[in-house]
Amino acid sequence: MSGSPPLVMRLVSSAYSVAEKAGAIVRKVLHSGELGIVEKTGANDLQTLADRLAQQSICASLSRRFPKITIIGEEELPSEEVREDLIENGQAEEILQKSCPAEFSELKEEEFVVWVDPLDGTKEYTEASRCLHHQTEVQIPHKGSDTSQPHSTALCTGLLDNVTVLIGIAYGGRAIAGVINQPFYNYQVGAGAHLGRTLWGMPGLGAFGFQLREVPGDRRIVTTTRSHSNKLVTDCVDAMEPHEVIRVGGAGNKIIQLVEGKASAYVFASPGCKKWDTCAPEAILHAVGGKLTDMHGNAYRYDANVKHMNSAGVLATLRNHEYYVSRVPHSVLQALKSD
Ligand code: AMP
Ligand code: MG
Ligand code: MG
Repeated sequence: MSGSPPLVMRLVSSAYSVAEKAGAIVRKVLHSGELGIVEKTGANDLQTLADRLAQQSICASLSRRFPKITIIGEEELPSEEVREDLIENGQAEEILQKSCPAEFSELKEEEFVVWVDPLDGTKEYTEASRCLHHQTEVQIPHKGSDTSQPHSTALCTGLLDNVTVLIGIAYGGRAIAGVINQPFYNYQVGAGAHLGRTLWGMPGLGAFGFQLREVPGDRRIVTTTRSHSNKLVTDCVDAMEPHEVIRVGGAGNKIIQLVEGKASAYVFASPGCKKWDTCAPEAILHAVGGKLTDMHGNAYRYDANVKHMNSAGVLATLRNHEYYVSRVPHSVLQALKSD
């Protein structure tokens, strides 16, 4: 068959290139050391210049090529002309060449809803920056850099893996494709390693850009927030009877841990996570047979008019979702009602 690939494949392929551009912006702002931090609702809810520029880049680039789609970005920004150097026109060729799942082959542009988190893990991004720029002997890691860094720096820069760019594509209320760029992937590897990577997936087609792995044996490794915890969150984690608990930043990062066999469940019994945090991760997780729901086991919807807050928490797994749902304490179910 000739002609251009189906709309959804063109959109995902643009989103891939746009997410890479946003990742480059996120690296550049960190390198500059001028983060331009603004508190949104408080000290644990921040916005930086990287969040602002990356969102401008993503939204302007996608809406220029797909003028009828609805795009919902995390950051509230004044509507102004976006600098031309922030526009990305590229499309990932390997995505254009994949065959589109039949159910997505004839979708209408005006019914797409794209959820954008230009920088997920902003809290950890700012902490890593503080660490790096207060130690003058240390450079921001780049290809070929010396890896013999002081121990304290190695610790604080571990935070950079928490940072991701999330572009989630929804149709009919469902997350049907997702792109995650991890701008600092490989930064601790040193010489010769390519910095940054992009993962993407579509239920019915598969997920790409990483090696799918499961946690070995029946170990329950729970991953949860490191900077937005409270008693309900920790009570719920404990109720899973985990063998191990990991506390890291970012919703995107935690879903990567699930699909790479580093964690068995992402448990967050709190209303802080939003639709732009979960749409792209959910699509990738579903593409490999995983599940993302609220604490009751109910799916979230991603229509343009839904409430942004995931008020009933986030529970995500690659396997055995029902076990984790069954362990959620009554106190959590009472406190966090499904929509
Ligand atoms: P975390 O696991 O703490 O990194 O949270 C995952 C995502 O949800 C990040 O984008 C956070 O900014 C967001 N989030 C979670 N809890 C809160 C909260 N209490 N206030 C603001 N954002 C939150
Ligand atoms: Mg986020
Ligand atoms: Mg964000």
